[in-house]
Order: sequence, then C-alpha cells, then structure tokens
Amino acid sequence: MSEKCNLCGTKSAEPAVTRGDSIEQNCGCCGHFLITGSAAAVLEHIDGPDILRKLRGYVWSNATPDKPALIDTSTIENLPKWSIPTVSERAEILLREIYKRTSYLGAKVNINERDFVGITYSHADAEVQFLSEVLEAKGLVTIARTAGELPVALTATGYSFVEEHKRNLITDGATAFVAMWFNDQVDEAYRIGIKEAIQNCGYLPVRIDEIAHAEKIDDMILRAIRESAFVVADLTGHRGGVYFEAGYALALGKPVIWTCRNTDFKHIHFDVRQYNCIKWSTESELFTKLEDRLISLFGKRDKN
Ligand SMILES: [Zn+2]
Repeated sequence: MSEKCNLCGTKSAEPAVTRGDSIEQNCGCCGHFLITGSAAAVLEHIDGPDILRKLRGYVWSNATPDKPALIDTSTIENLPKWSIPTVSERAEILLREIYKRTSYLGAKVNINERDFVGITYSHADAEVQFLSEVLEAKGLVTIARTAGELPVALTATGYSFVEEHKRNLITDGATAFVAMWFNDQVDEAYRIGIKEAIQNCGYLPVRIDEIAHAEKIDDMILRAIRESAFVVADLTGHRGGVYFEAGYALALGKPVIWTCRNTDFKHIHFDVRQYNCIKWSTESELFTKLEDRLISLFGKRDKN
C-alpha cells in the first residue's frame, strides 16, 4: 500500500487522504504533512536543488505525532528565505534523532533508513553517512559498518552531549525563545506570525510546549531562555508563565519583544505597560510588525 509522494515523487508514501482542498500524506522520506491545493500548485512551479530539502526539514521539525506539518502557500513562498542548517548543525540533528530512537543504552540505530535523509536536510543516504562520520570524528558515536545497514550507537560522550545541550538545537545565540499561551486560539499566531518572523530574521524559534501542559517552569525552560538571543513574549491570554518567562529574561538582560492581540491589549498587566508592545489583530499583521521590529533591533542574522 504505497503511492507517489506529493513532495518527492517517490513511491514510499502512504495513500494520500483528501481533506477539503488539502491532501494529507505520510512519506517515509518527507514525513507527515498536510499540503493545501494552492500550495501544491505553487510548488509545481518552483525549482531549485534546496527546495525539497528545506520542505522536508520543515515537515520533520514541525509535525507532531498526532498532527501533520501544514504546508500552505506562505510556507512555500518563504522557502527561498530560509537557510539550510550548517553541516555541524545537521550532524547535531542526526545525533538527537539517534538519541531519540535509542531504546536502551548502547543500542544501535540503523541510520540507513530513508527518513534520516529528510530529517537531516540531506539529498541522499551518502550525506547521512557523512554526517554520522562527523559525529564519529568528535567521539559522539560509533559506527558498525555492515552490508546494507549503518548501525550507529551513541558513545558515553554522545549521551552527555545530548543531555547537556537539550533543547539547544543550534548554539551560539541563534535561538529565540517564544513565551506564549498554548492554546488553539493562538496556534496560528505562532505558526504564521511569530515563528515565521523569527525564522525570516535567521533565528531558530524555540517553544517548549510539551512542558507547558504541566504548567511548570522547569530547568529546561530556564536554560532555553538563558541560551536564547532574545525572547518574544505574546501576552494574549495573559498566562502567568508567559509573564514569568519574560521577567526572567529581563533579569538576565535579554531583549524581550512583547506582542499582544488587540482584544487582550487592555488587560496587559500594569507592570509591563511601560514596554513598547506590538498590538496585532491578524496573524499576518503580527508577522509583518514583528519582523520589522526584529530587523530594526537585531538585523538579519547571517548564518554563514
Ligand atoms: Zn516524499
């Protein structure tokens, strides 16, 4: 039961499911995505060696176990502005993926599987192998080269590396921590507005939602804030955690960019009224205003 993937065209995908004018598909290489009809039409007319790699990377990093990554026309239009992560960043993505799939200490994970190509922004298996060799050279993994398979296991150093750098996917101050309400009402504001604006400026947005459900501020969040270049705090919904995280960032001397939906604006807590807060009514307005603010504050970060 396989059919042609709408992104890469290979026959490794599960049958597509039509949802309104969109198509949902799960491809062994590209991941789980939902592409709108108009996005699929636009995609047919853009070319470039990196388009597919960027899309796959986008899908793998945005899909969750129960939700496909949404590809709409704005995703496609923004592709040329995104940069492919550097080789060491890609090696780190590979390391984390192996860590995730390690069921017991020292377990070998076969990275000669097609999904690793998509996850690591690679063109082909050979690149995944190369990235594993980058990790091997750093003493983070061992590679057992056997015919047809490429079983890779984390070394003790590899485990410590992943655990010490948890959540800090890309180091050297390239991340932007996003403090906001976790609710369907602002999901689009994150996806279309905040995340896009941050990415367009060359930073990696970090939002720690799994933990927010537990409503606790733990070490992982604090560390992610400490490691970020700046924090975007959206006050819509007026969650205590958002004020706390923004306050923690301010105390560390990190720039905090405040945003709030116009309907919630009048309820902004007294203590933060002195800050210049971006008032938005639509997700695209949030995107435009935030991107402008970020560019004027930090400029566009050149990843290379
Ligand atoms: Zn595919």
